[in-house]
Amino acid sequence: MQLQDILYSQGFGTRRVCAGLIQQGWVSVCDASSPNADYVLCSEATADFEPEGLLLRVQGVNWPFHAKAYVLLHKPAGTECSQKPSTYPSIYTLLPPPLRQRPTKSAVQGVQAVGRLDQDTTGMLLLSDDGQFIHRLSSPKKHVPKVYQVTTKHPVDEAQVSKLLAGVVLDDDPKPVRAAHCTMVDTHRLDMTLTEGKYHQVKRMIAAVGNRVEGLHRSRIGGMDLPADLAPGQWRWLSASDLELLN
Ligand code: URA
Repeated sequence: MQLQDILYSQGFGTRRVCAGLIQQGWVSVCDASSPNADYVLCSEATADFEPEGLLLRVQGVNWPFHAKAYVLLHKPAGTECSQKPSTYPSIYTLLPPPLRQRPTKSAVQGVQAVGRLDQDTTGMLLLSDDGQFIHRLSSPKKHVPKVYQVTTKHPVDEAQVSKLLAGVVLDDDPKPVRAAHCTMVDTHRLDMTLTEGKYHQVKRMIAAVGNRVEGLHRSRIGGMDLPADLAPGQWRWLSASDLELLN
């Protein structure tokens, strides 16, 4: 694969922009798997490279080649999961431009969030440009468990927990929805596992049992926990072992 096409596939701009970056000496490459690998400066846009395992350095920033992008973001409060936010900054502004610009087969460029969290919800958010991955993790029919740490306005009690586990009816569907797991952690704290992902589901379920959500944090998706060392606002690539936990 030509280097200019590799850069283009990673979201560094149009093919013309990518060729310009290479010609101006902004791009060097090395083999990420070989220890003490030396970067090779590339000034030839036409040189051929094996993209898998390639570590690019573009304008001083290291960029490992990824055929598909799978990333994890620790969503901070006060951000919207929309490309065109109405009130708060978009979560997409927390990602570097190549992740937002990666060419895709669909009309929308770049990685897309796997489901949405409310602006005031914090925690684990996955993003990808792999449509099948997004569908598998976000479709209500796939029943991927998601764990929420809920802080409530009023004290929680066993009766509320029992109702959440037995199922409550929300205003848009006569079929009850229930928490797959629900445990009291503290007087005003619940851990709740959901396997659907309806609009405002946690907030509406908590309201249905006569309480109110004051704080909401997603701490786990499938078999993967939000890593403790990923601060709010930070992102990282998902590793092969992370992806296995999500499978
Ligand atoms: N349920 C909600 O009510 N809000 C979220 O952000 C996620 C789940």
